[in-house]
Amino acid sequence: MGKITQLLSHPSELRAVVQLMYFRQPLHATSKRSDTLQRCYYLLNQTSRSFATVIKELHPEIKDVVTLFYLVLRALDTVEDDMTLDPSIKVPLLRGFVDKLNEKDWTFNGSGPDEKDRIVLVEFDQILIEYHKLKPEYQDIIKDITKKMGNGMADYILDDNFNLNGVETIADFDLYCHYVAGLVGEGLTKLMVLAKFSDNSLAEDGFYRSNSMGLFLQKTNIIRDYHEDLEDGRSFWPKEVWSKYTDSLPSFHKDTSAESQFQGLSCLNELVLSSLGHAKDVLEYLSLVKDPSSFNFCAIPQVMAIATLATVYNNPKVFHSVVKIRKGTTCDLILRSRTLPGVILIFRQYIREINHKSNVKDPNYLKIGIKCGEIEQFIELMYPSVAYPQGVTKAQHPITKIVADRAKIDNDIQRVINDETFSTYALFGGLLLVLVGALTITFG
Ligand code: MG
Repeated sequence: MGKITQLLSHPSELRAVVQLMYFRQPLHATSKRSDTLQRCYYLLNQTSRSFATVIKELHPEIKDVVTLFYLVLRALDTVEDDMTLDPSIKVPLLRGFVDKLNEKDWTFNGSGPDEKDRIVLVEFDQILIEYHKLKPEYQDIIKDITKKMGNGMADYILDDNFNLNGVETIADFDLYCHYVAGLVGEGLTKLMVLAKFSDNSLAEDGFYRSNSMGLFLQKTNIIRDYHEDLEDGRSFWPKEVWSKYTDSLPSFHKDTSAESQFQGLSCLNELVLSSLGHAKDVLEYLSLVKDPSSFNFCAIPQVMAIATLATVYNNPKVFHSVVKIRKGTTCDLILRSRTLPGVILIFRQYIREINHKSNVKDPNYLKIGIKCGEIEQFIELMYPSVAYPQGVTKAQHPITKIVADRAKIDNDIQRVINDETFSTYALFGGLLLVLVGALTITFG
């Protein structure tokens, strides 16, 4: 289906695209930038597909910090992904990458010619100039994560079993996702807590919830990318799970018999269950992010993940192609995820969708139902759907107070959203009048 036809058949999404493109105002305007900082934002645009827009709308206090954090990790990842680099160069480079942050003008030209983001390493001196202008506390956070991630990447390269057999156990799966995504969550949390944009408690739980933020995204991507990764000759689905359903993971793609597809779906759904295990932490985490631009930044990837999870759940297409959410849906999610109540509604919508798609024959049917129920129950605690009768005092859960404390922030943003939506409908109304007028003149 063409993009235009797709939009016309989903009118609410057409409205979302127009609202996002013409009426949604960024929370913070762009400030004047030095030439090197300008170059860093150019590098951000070149290398980040989904994050550039949200990063650029962050509060001025952390916008440059997050941009530089992103670029440093992008540089690290470019070294890790480069198959033309010999491990004897790659491993020490990853482990010692943190020391490059102490240098003034380090660059690296040794990436393979096809490395899509090699420019970040070639122009790393530009990143360093701006990095050294950051507050020392911000620099330390970036350094800490760079060190942990660089060493983690090096460990995986040297892990022959991982390279030969992929991810073995569920614990390995969690640990791998921690290194690629959980650590990013930890760093961002430290930055936002330092800026007083997030509640201190998020840095006092051993980064358990920030890790869940990363794991929820990463596990969802790994489930979705089954086919793409298979074509690239790799896989991150843990053997402890898939070995219950098949002797060989590629069989879900190759063997199209009903039995094999059923086993494949059962396996896929068990991984969705694993991902859903982080949803409650994600909602709790988001409830503790106070600054609206940081909230946006954190919430958008999470609502995209829950939408993706509902799309891939019990969906055999995952074994044969890339399953994606529609562009219009993406716009709609970006618009609706600016407040906590908005995010909650999105999560509830997709949790119910997952529940409805369940197959009673699925071996995890009950567990998935229970998990969805737990998440809905938590949502009900946050925003009760039924008002309590007067005189009835409900049991206080810590989340109730957190939600009440942030109501003003969400209400202020909601007013902005309402104005935008009104303007968008007014535009559609105006266009309709012009159309009717034109038709009357032509045929009247
Ligand atoms: Mg990588």
